Amino acid sequence: MEVPQRPIVSFDGLGIAPRILEILDRIRFTVPTPIQHKAIPIAIEGKDVIGVAQTGTGKTLAFAIPIIQRLSQKKGRCLILVPTRELALQVNETFQKIAPLFGIRTAVIIGGASMYNQLQALRKNPRVLIATPGRLVDHMSRRTVLLADVDVLVLDEADRMLDMGFLPQIQQILRFIPKNRQTMLFSATIPGEVLKIAASHMKLPVHIEIAPSGTTAERIIQEVFIVKRDAKKQLLAKILEQYHGSVLLFSRTKIGARKITRIIREMGHRAAEIHSDRSLSQRKEALDGFKTGRYRVLVATDIAARGIDVIGIELVINYDLPEDTENYVHRIGRTGRAGHEGRAISFATPEQGGDVRSIEMLIKTALPVSEHPDLPRERFVQYSKPAGHSGFYGIRRNRHVRRKKRLGHQYPRHNFNRF
Ligand code: AMP
Repeated sequence: MEVPQRPIVSFDGLGIAPRILEILDRIRFTVPTPIQHKAIPIAIEGKDVIGVAQTGTGKTLAFAIPIIQRLSQKKGRCLILVPTRELALQVNETFQKIAPLFGIRTAVIIGGASMYNQLQALRKNPRVLIATPGRLVDHMSRRTVLLADVDVLVLDEADRMLDMGFLPQIQQILRFIPKNRQTMLFSATIPGEVLKIAASHMKLPVHIEIAPSGTTAERIIQEVFIVKRDAKKQLLAKILEQYHGSVLLFSRTKIGARKITRIIREMGHRAAEIHSDRSLSQRKEALDGFKTGRYRVLVATDIAARGIDVIGIELVINYDLPEDTENYVHRIGRTGRAGHEGRAISFATPEQGGDVRSIEMLIKTALPVSEHPDLPRERFVQYSKPAGHSGFYGIRRNRHVRRKKRLGHQYPRHNFNRF
C-alpha cells in the first residue's frame, strides 16, 4: 500500500531550537521549503550533506539555521565559500536575519571590497566567514585570517567551486581547515565528476536531492526564438514592449553586456549592467537599483549572475545562449523563485540547434520554438560537411566530447582551438 506523503506544514519537528523558531515566525517564514525540510534535521545532527536542489528553493536558510544553532551552543567557526561577491553579500543578508540575535558576528571576505574594512571585521572575532576563494587566500597569505578552528564548511554553488577555475584555491584553503569538521555542499547541478571530488573531502555525506540535477524550476515558462544574430536587437525591442515587468538579460561576454545595455537605454528602458569589468560598488548599485525598480533591465554575464536572488523577476532573456549548458539552469532559476511564476526566453541563432538540444537533454524537456509575427521565420540549420572537407572538425569535436565526459564538465566552444 502506498503511504501518502504528509504535507510539510511547519518548521516544528526538525530539531530547530525554540528561539530560532520564534525568529522564523517573526520574519514570516512559516513553511519550510523541501530542501530545508530534508537538510535541516541532518545538518543539525552535524552530518555532512550534499544538497542538490533547484535554484531559489531556500538553500541558504537550509544551512544557515543549523549553523547558527550549532554556533550558539558550542565554540568554533564556520566558513562559507561562494563563487561570486554578490552571492556572498546575499548569503550574509540571510544570516543577518538571525545571527545577530544570538550575538554571532559575520564577516564578508570578497574581492573588490576594502581590505581595511575586512581587517576591521576580522578583528571583531566573527564566527561566520562568508568568502570568495581568491580574497580568502589573500588574507591567508597575509595571515590576517586563521582557519584553525573552522569546524563547519559550506560550499555553495558547489559545481562552480569545484570546477577547474576555483579548484586549486579551494584545495589550498582545505589544507588549512581541520579535517574533523562538518562539510555541506549545495548546488542546483552537481556533475558526477564534481561529486567525486566533493565526496573525497567529506565523511559519508547524506545525499539530499530535491529534484534531479539539472531540473529547472517548475513554474517557469520556457521558449526559444530562432533568430539571426543581426536581428536579435529587433526581437529584444519587441519583447521588451510586450512584457512590462523586470527583466534579467544574459550576454555571453562583458563587451556584449555593455553594448546591449546601451542599446536597451536607447530603446528608452532603464537598464544597468553587472559583470566582472565593473567595480564592486558599481555592481552593488546595479543590483540594488534593479531590486528597487530603478532599473527595469539588468544585463549580466554568467559569472556575475550566479546566485542573484531577486524576487519577482518576470522574465529572463538569454540574449546569447550560455557557453556552459549547465548555466542555462542557473540563469533561468533567477525567475520563478520561491513560488512565483516566471518566464525564460532564449535567443538561438540558426546555427545553434545543437546547443539547444544539449540544453533540452540536460533539463529533460523540449523547449518550444516561438516565432514573432514581425520578424522573418528562421529554422535551425543542419551542419553538413563542406564538399571535399576532411572531416577534421568531426575529429576535434569527438575529442572535445570525450574530454568533457571525462571531466564531467562542459567546455566553452572557443576552447576547440586549444585542442
Ligand atoms: P535561496 O534559494 O536561499 O536563495 O532562497 C530563495 C528565496 O526564498 C529567498 O528570498 C528567501 O528569503 C526565500 N525563502 C527561503 N526559505 C523560505 C521559506 N521557508 N519561506 C518563505 N520564503 C523563503
